[in-house]
Amino acid sequence: MEKNSGNFAKTSLEELYGENCFNDAVMRLKLPRSVYKELKEIQRGNRQLTIEIAEIVASAIKDWAIEKGATHYSHWFQPMTGLTAEKHDSFITPAADGKIVLEFSGKELIIGEPDASSFPSGGLRATFEARGYTAWDTTSPAFLMKDNSGVTLKIPTAFFSYTGEALDKKVPLLRSMDAVNNAALRVLKALGNTTAKRVIPTAGPEQEYFLVEKDYFDKRMDLFLTGKTLFGAMPPKGQEMEDHYFGKIKLRVADFMRELNHELWSLGISAKTQHNEVAPNQFEVAPVFTSVNVATDQNQLTMEVIQKVASKHGLVALLHEKPFAGVNGSGKHCNWSLATDDGFNLLEPGDSPHLNMQFLIFLSAVIKAADKYSPLLRWSASNAGNDHRLGAGEAPPPIISIFLGTELAAILEKLSQNESITSTNGNYLELGVTALPKLPKDSADRNRTSPLAFTGNKFEFRMVPSSASAAMPNTVLNTTVADVLNEYADKLENSDNIKDTAQNIIKEVYKNHKRIIFNGNGYSGDWVKDAKKRGLPVIKSTVDAIPELLKSPAIELFTKLGVMSKGELEARYTIYLETYSKQINIEAGVMIDMVSREIIPAVLKYSKESADAINSLTSAGIKNGISEQTELLQFIMEDFEGLSKSLGMLKAELANARAVPDLLKQARFFHGKVLPAMEQVRLYADMLEKKIAKDFWPFPTYVDLLFRI
Ligand code: ADP
Ligand code: MG
Repeated sequence: MEKNSGNFAKTSLEELYGENCFNDAVMRLKLPRSVYKELKEIQRGNRQLTIEIAEIVASAIKDWAIEKGATHYSHWFQPMTGLTAEKHDSFITPAADGKIVLEFSGKELIIGEPDASSFPSGGLRATFEARGYTAWDTTSPAFLMKDNSGVTLKIPTAFFSYTGEALDKKVPLLRSMDAVNNAALRVLKALGNTTAKRVIPTAGPEQEYFLVEKDYFDKRMDLFLTGKTLFGAMPPKGQEMEDHYFGKIKLRVADFMRELNHELWSLGISAKTQHNEVAPNQFEVAPVFTSVNVATDQNQLTMEVIQKVASKHGLVALLHEKPFAGVNGSGKHCNWSLATDDGFNLLEPGDSPHLNMQFLIFLSAVIKAADKYSPLLRWSASNAGNDHRLGAGEAPPPIISIFLGTELAAILEKLSQNESITSTNGNYLELGVTALPKLPKDSADRNRTSPLAFTGNKFEFRMVPSSASAAMPNTVLNTTVADVLNEYADKLENSDNIKDTAQNIIKEVYKNHKRIIFNGNGYSGDWVKDAKKRGLPVIKSTVDAIPELLKSPAIELFTKLGVMSKGELEARYTIYLETYSKQINIEAGVMIDMVSREIIPAVLKYSKESADAINSLTSAGIKNGISEQTELLQFIMEDFEGLSKSLGMLKAELANARAVPDLLKQARFFHGKVLPAMEQVRLYADMLEKKIAKDFWPFPTYVDLLFRI
């Protein structure tokens, strides 16, 4: 294995932090004062970007990047597949004298035109009209990415079509930030806040991942092509000893994490926490929160860097939600809140009566939004990989509910019943007049089974898939909360008694949306029954979640707030369904290949060897153990028969699935028919793995993948 190659000569973290990021400090240093100020105003949304400003910024970015070794630049964007994409151009322009000049114009900074015909547009852009544009997102800093042979300047951009439709995940996210900003400001103003000029949704995504030995990874076509294992019998030891969670970090992993942190810090990503997770060889890294837009970009970058650094250490990072059956999978916990530009967290219960009323209003907005639009939140946390996690006793069930903690729930309950509440100083709580009782800050009360948990001053959306972009969950949180805040603003702006109106809003929320509050164990089977009784939607799979996008509540919400048009929603509907079917199609294809060309030949070889041994021993006159060995071989052949037959069934179902013309019906077919057929094949293959001599098994097993690094 290659030794880690982090640059540990550098001792000053201050120097390291952000050295590869064109952040605020660098901008202040490199830009003329007036331009810097102007750019800040543009970032705040108070002014439009002009080509003159772009020219000056481009020139400064270019000098900075070239000084640090960059030869190329790239607009970096997030197409609807959820990956990131880029197209590189070099800075060179040939000059008349046979030499070159290095150029990067304002126009090149602002707008790019990748040959975008192959990115999925879900029908928004016909391929003959292939033009898609990338536009500089001034609020997300440019950065330098090093590879083995050079450095590239990357510029975070939004990606849209010639006619202005969003072709990526960022455009709707930016629009949703606007929507929640406008709505929250209206509420704040109505409540008498005169200082806040902007409200910014904030996010801190915790990222889980697995590390496996690269040598083993390379020997498994399933990992290589699908990111998950399609076979693998449970090893004699799993996660039952619970000795991995928060356990001592192995030396090799510690080396990896050190380099990961250095890379992230150099990019200006504030990696803060790291630890072992529940499953063997599973880990987590979390940054300090920032605006949802930057946090989403940085999370995307973090996933890239995790993979890059892992490969330098002879490891492979798996970001898939469920790489190993029977072992906990990975999630991305999206912590979310709303902050004002003057530094207040709107979900922080304050000390003063005024702040508490504000807190309860914003809290109520999230409660109502989650109940009213629960299918959309559910959709935003769905993909094929996550279907294997949600409801599997390791992640929340596929039902949106909110954990508030018993104290806060009791306060809301009493308020809604007009009962008196004792405040901290012994007085009775009167909204807007006295302070709330102190809420316990202790996270011991933390509920790890809730999909959307209030954790003292933010919500933790725990359902999000590990491999997915954080853009959609944040877009849905921003938009749904914006909608409810607008409704509150309508009421508050027309009220002549703010305190009464606020009180009524809070009461109404608890009365009408109490069903979404659940402080119990979300993993228990009883909860699913209880949730159904409460009338909460139970949307079991991705295929069931996607059609929610085209139902009227979604269309009304997103169009009303200008976040996504009907066409943009239809495009996403199409792409998500296609992606789902494609993914299962690939998995099934890989499975068929591995069974046909690796497992079956291995079983035949081993069986022949066994049979030959039995025959030889028998002709030598040996009787002991022969009948037992024959019986074992018989069992192997029974499994072999099961495997062969189920393989035939899978092939037939896959062929049927591929022939279904309608996208939704096809995705349903993959979900309902192909997946169960795959499970059958796996069942026999895993039983055979346990019965065949290790040397004969064609690829590394769970013991290798989960316990050896
Ligand atoms: P815990 O580890 O108990 O879940 P932390 O305070 O460490 O809690 O937070 C976990 C994540 O939540 C971190 O990424 C953190 O930056 C983020 N976070 C904290 N406060 C906020 C907030 N106001 N808005 C968004 N994310 C936040
Ligand atoms: Mg957490």
